[in-house]
Amino acid sequence: MLKNLYQNDRRILKDCLPLKLPLCVSIEPTNLCNFKCVMCFHGNNEYADGAKPLKNMEWDIFQKTLDDLKNWTDGAGEKIKLLKLYSLGEPMVNPRLCDMVKAVKERDVAEQIEITTNGSLLTRETAKKLVEYGLDIIRISIYGIEEERNKYITKSSYTPSDIWENVRFLHEYREKTGGAKPKIYVKMFDAGKSVNEEFLKKYEDIADVVGIDEIFNMDVGENDVFENYYGDEAAQEHRNSMESNIFQEKRACRYPFTHLTVRNDGTVITCCADWLKELRFGDIKEHSIQEIWESKSLYDLRQKMLSTKGQCFKACRACEIPYRDLPEDSVDELDFNRFGYVNEY
Ligand code: SF4
Repeated sequence: MLKNLYQNDRRILKDCLPLKLPLCVSIEPTNLCNFKCVMCFHGNNEYADGAKPLKNMEWDIFQKTLDDLKNWTDGAGEKIKLLKLYSLGEPMVNPRLCDMVKAVKERDVAEQIEITTNGSLLTRETAKKLVEYGLDIIRISIYGIEEERNKYITKSSYTPSDIWENVRFLHEYREKTGGAKPKIYVKMFDAGKSVNEEFLKKYEDIADVVGIDEIFNMDVGENDVFENYYGDEAAQEHRNSMESNIFQEKRACRYPFTHLTVRNDGTVITCCADWLKELRFGDIKEHSIQEIWESKSLYDLRQKMLSTKGQCFKACRACEIPYRDLPEDSVDELDFNRFGYVNEY
């Protein structure tokens, strides 16, 4: 399982907060996707209305975000640990994704750049550019190794063999050019022992890490993640187990303290699970990214997160992400007196 990949020597997060810079900044190249997966926001009829504007990020907004990051990281004398070019959509839908990777590399604002993709649009041309521009990490999510299952989940005409071939070429090209980057992670949600084994075998020679991930719930609108992926019985079983065990003790989420996401239209929120932008605390078109991180809006949001353990936010009430965290990453006992804000808005 992928959680075995967590490092063992983790620091206690609450002792390191507040952070001068977020650990992770996500920039959303697009909120469009070419798949309509049954367990995702995109497979939900409310998505088109709730997540609008549905479009690729305009280059001006991307450039402004990057300029802000450059000023901020230069001033702070440190870089963002991880910059993700990904949030709600399939990043390769944006035809300028590779230019974005190149621009972030050139500005040198992050220690690592990562993309998460469904792999269907990873053409040879794109693969070559990603290797040449120095992308650090690519995460490829596979939804089925059997054609019918894959079609049912993704509602797309891309087959498991198309995607396997795309990954194979990326790996081959990277090896041929002698580079170690991007590091290729491939994962699939648990599909039962024999399918899992077949999947691991299929990808073991063309990826650096192949893993089976556990599916988890979040608010994806009318869809129930578990129900659509595994069926009614498994969904009910999961709900019962969460209600009777894990949800008994509510947990605050670390994301408002460690992450920042710039959506396709410049809105700034905490995380990719918040597709309706409920946890919005800024806009890149109105303030710099540093001003947003040091704002009263974010201070208030953090305070609410801690005092209600996220229960005042609809997105967080349905989200299992904090319950998957390791104890070292808990913010429940955080001393909020250490926090303040610089900007009044
Ligand atoms: S609980 Fe989920 S929705 Fe809420 S901030 Fe954390 S990751 Fe985002």
